[in-house]
Formats: sequence, C-alpha cells, structure tokens
Amino acid sequence: MVAAHVHPDGDAIGALISMKLILQRLGKKVDVYDQDRCPPEFEFLPHALEIRNKPLGSVEYDVAVLVDCGDFERVGAELQKFIKWKVPFLINIDHHIPNNTFGNICWVEPSASSTCEMLFDLCMSLSLPPDADLSSALYTGILTDTGSFRYSNTNGRVFEMVSVLVQMGADPGYIATQVYESATPEKLKLLANVLSTMEFYDGSRIVTAKLTNSMLSDSSSSYMDSEGFINHLRTVKSADLAILFREVDEGLIHISMRSRGGIDVARLAQRHGGGGHRQAAACRIAGTIESVRSMFVGEAIGYINGV
Ligand code: 5GP
Ligand code: MN
Repeated sequence: MVAAHVHPDGDAIGALISMKLILQRLGKKVDVYDQDRCPPEFEFLPHALEIRNKPLGSVEYDVAVLVDCGDFERVGAELQKFIKWKVPFLINIDHHIPNNTFGNICWVEPSASSTCEMLFDLCMSLSLPPDADLSSALYTGILTDTGSFRYSNTNGRVFEMVSVLVQMGADPGYIATQVYESATPEKLKLLANVLSTMEFYDGSRIVTAKLTNSMLSDSSSSYMDSEGFINHLRTVKSADLAILFREVDEGLIHISMRSRGGIDVARLAQRHGGGGHRQAAACRIAGTIESVRSMFVGEAIGYINGV
C-alpha cells in the first residue's frame, strides 16, 4: 500500500500515483490511500480516482510506502493505526525537514524540491523511463511544490527533470489549466472574503488573514477550496512572513506560514507540534480564531526580530 498526507497537495497526489505506477511496473500489486481522497483539481491525473480513503480490512499488505509525509501522524489517525498494527514493513519517502524519523527504510531528502523529484530519481536508478501517465504525475508534483517554478527550491535540476518529463508526454499547458484554472465561482467569492480580513503588522513585514467556518457556509464552499489562498498573501512586496489562520474544527486553528529571506518557519511551526519546510510550514493550535491570531502574531513578531 502507498499513502500520503491528509489534505493532499499536488506533490502528495503526484507521488501517490507515481509510486503506484512504478511498483506496478515492478510487478507488484498496489493500493493507494489518502484519508482525504483526491482534490478536484488533480482528478484529471490518470488513476487519481483509484485513491481510497479507508483501509481495506480484507487485504494483507506486505509493505506500506508513505510519500510526502513529514510525520507519521500526517497520514491521518485511521491509516496510521492500520499501518502500525497490520503492516509489517514501512518505507518513508519524503522531502520535509523531519521532526522524528520513522520507517524501516527512511529516505528523506530535505534538499529535494518535491517528493516527485525523488521518485523521478528512483525511476532513473531503476532504469524505468516514465511513460506519459507517470510523467504527468511527476510533473504535477514538481510544478505545484515549486510554486510553478518560482520558489527558491527551483533550480537547474528541476528544469532538467521537467524537460525529460515533457519529452515523455507530460503536457505543461494542459496540466497548468487543470491545476490552476479549475476554480468554482464559490471558491473565488471565498477568496475575496478571506482577502478582506487582511491585517498588516510590524511595518507590513507580516501579513495575516483568516478563514472561519461561517465564511465557508456563507459562500457554500469547502475547506479544501482554500488550499492555495496563502499564496495570495505572500505576493505583498513588504511581507517577509504571510500567515493564514483557518478554523479546521470548532476550537482548532490551522496556521499556514510562508516566508522570504532568512526566516525559517519550519522551526516556528515545530514549537507548536507542526512542521514543513524553511519557507512553507504549518501547525495547529487550539483556541478561537481571534485569540490564536493575536497570540501567534505576537510570537511571530518576536521570532522574526530574533527576540
Ligand atoms: P500548509 O500551509 O499548506 O498547510 O502546509 C505547509 C507545509 O507544512 C507543507 O509542506 C505541509 O506538508 C507542512 N505541514 C502542514 N501541516 C503540518 C503538520 O501538522 N505537521 C508537519 N510536520 N508539517 C505540516
Ligand atoms: Mn511535497
């Protein structure tokens, strides 16, 4: 079995599908899992609809491969329990900064742009040239985790890899349209609402916004619709740190952070049991959205000023 993290992004979905295709080419029987299934913007990928959200009790798996999961918990409670009790061997393939290493085999490369980059290398070392389906999945993971080739993890290697993937059948224009231009009117209305809550702190070095459950119901949209919203906040030139506070459950706030320059948000997230990358990280804190916002902004101001 192959599984990825809750609230999967393009790299998680791309890596799930890629790993399935690689293992199948090696003659293995594979099932793929994600607690939250596939977001609509990635459903165009071949095999995306084969992703299951609940463990199949009737199947005995020899090996679980976790992809793009910085922590074992990130696979979600039910899948984590299933793997712990029912699967004898665990392989961890990931590019986040690890909090706790886990797995019988642990292949973690924080310098890789994406888990899909690592799986591209795996294909090459197994002499498995990616076909069009595999190329599209790998391309999607690299595209989304590099912010469309804009973040600091974008380098010459990334362009070399995507050049190969395009030659093998990944279609950049088609994939970009599917991933970035598939919003519903409700999603854009929700974005407008979220942006209207923007606040600036510390001489506009910090920008924040919030998303409450009532904003979701008012715009008939879902939490998943807000996945890319933090990226709009980071476009403010003066903002070295963008923070989006989202109510995931009653009394639980998901804090997404994006930074520029030397600010390591993974370390700030780790203080609260979260994690991620130096310039993109997240954590969860219990409380009301306004209390968490004012507490955390205070801490962030101290953090970026080295206090
Ligand atoms: P996002 O803001 O998009 O939810 O997450 C940003 C980054 O932090 C992603 O790379 C994501 O994988 C990572 N991340 C998000 N939530 C958690 C968490 O609870 N724990 C850890 N370790 N990483 C997280
Ligand atoms: Mn990733």
